Amino acid sequence: MTDASTTGGGTGDLARLTALIREFSDERDWGQFHDPKSLVLALVGEVGELAELVQWLPAGDAVAHFADPDRRRRAGEEIADVLVYLLRLADVLGVDVLAATLDKQAEARRRFPTDDVRGVAPRRE
Ligand SMILES: [Mg+2]
Repeated sequence: MTDASTTGGGTGDLARLTALIREFSDERDWGQFHDPKSLVLALVGEVGELAELVQWLPAGDAVAHFADPDRRRRAGEEIADVLVYLLRLADVLGVDVLAATLDKQAEARRRFPTDDVRGVAPRRE
């Protein structure tokens, strides 16, 4: 399923962001460093920085913790870093992020019918 009408923001925002990130890289001739392995490692590093923000926080306190504007801003910065590397990776690999995500969501809806799983955490078996 790749119907962009279900995304709310449409395809334009992701495509525009991807182009902006590509342009940033091209202007600096950094494409030579953006092989998939290096991008995945950079992505993992940024996920680690995001994880540091919640490390040792009791899970039940996390939402209230990020109600603080400075903490929410910091979370936003790390989430943005993650998204930048994710979109750059997808761009380098030629993956249509929107289509792939819509396909995965459609698959998840089939795998987890609401009547079967409402209120029950998914388990790997
Ligand atoms: Mg960061």
